[in-house]
Amino acid sequence: MNGEKAFKKFFKGETSFPKFKKKKNKDVKAYFPKNNKTDWTIERHRVNIPTIGWMRLKEYGYIPTNSVVKSGTVSQKSDRYYVYILVEEDIKPNDKPYSCGIGIDLGIKDTAICSNGIKFKNINKTSKVKKIERKLKREQRKLSRKYESLKIRNKNNKEEATRQNIQKQVVKVQKIHQRLYNIRNDYNNKIVSELVKIKPVFITIEDLAISNMIKNKHLSKAVQKQKLYELRNKLISKSHQNNIEIRQVSIWYPSSKLCNKCGSVKKDLKLSDRVYNCKCGYSFDRDANASYNLRDAKEYKII
Ligand SMILES: [Zn+2]
Repeated sequence: MNGEKAFKKFFKGETSFPKFKKKKNKDVKAYFPKNNKTDWTIERHRVNIPTIGWMRLKEYGYIPTNSVVKSGTVSQKSDRYYVYILVEEDIKPNDKPYSCGIGIDLGIKDTAICSNGIKFKNINKTSKVKKIERKLKREQRKLSRKYESLKIRNKNNKEEATRQNIQKQVVKVQKIHQRLYNIRNDYNNKIVSELVKIKPVFITIEDLAISNMIKNKHLSKAVQKQKLYELRNKLISKSHQNNIEIRQVSIWYPSSKLCNKCGSVKKDLKLSDRVYNCKCGYSFDRDANASYNLRDAKEYKII
């Protein structure tokens, strides 16, 4: 199925010729459809995978046990096995009344700043993430040293043993990568669910010029770490599920240069100016001002 999808995309000219997965460094997945009644039976602590049989779950309590399973996938990622299931579920409508619309400024200093005063800090600046990143760097260095020494010792017959030891280090590095991914992904999920819970009439966001940001070397790393692109997509799809209108303003909209009170444009606003001072006496935090302008934007595209 995946191969078919890849080839269809290739013939449409959207992607290059499909490549085989590398078992060594990509996660391997196996898809199991539900053919029999007993396939994919889910109990509290175990799951019946077709052809494999009952498997115990390490983490349990959040797979819906009474739902109708359509199919499932087993995958291996950084030395751990995961099971994904596709279920049919009634979505409970969020019956909170709609509140007024909010504007959200996505950025690097803080991940998201909302016009209702909620601020989501950049998780990559916390000491916890920084500590793991340092650890990752150390283990990566260790790995590259192991490769180097393998080159030198290549003439000897010890190769097989060293290869196995290198593989151990590869898994170690993968595990740290996975941990960072989990932390960042979880944080983004929390942001989205908290915003959707407010149930605003609309959410206004900027058309993030991510490709432009990625051209800037320093910005690109930060954007990739924050997964801003994924965060945006998640926010859009969750809002659609909850009947929240998503408004997108163009990248030319001067959201941070506009004064929210008098509407004049401050052309000489630098990136280093953290506080917006207008000649009309209005003074506010730069990003908060931007989020107000997004909320009050008159020209937008509904996506
Ligand atoms: Zn002003």
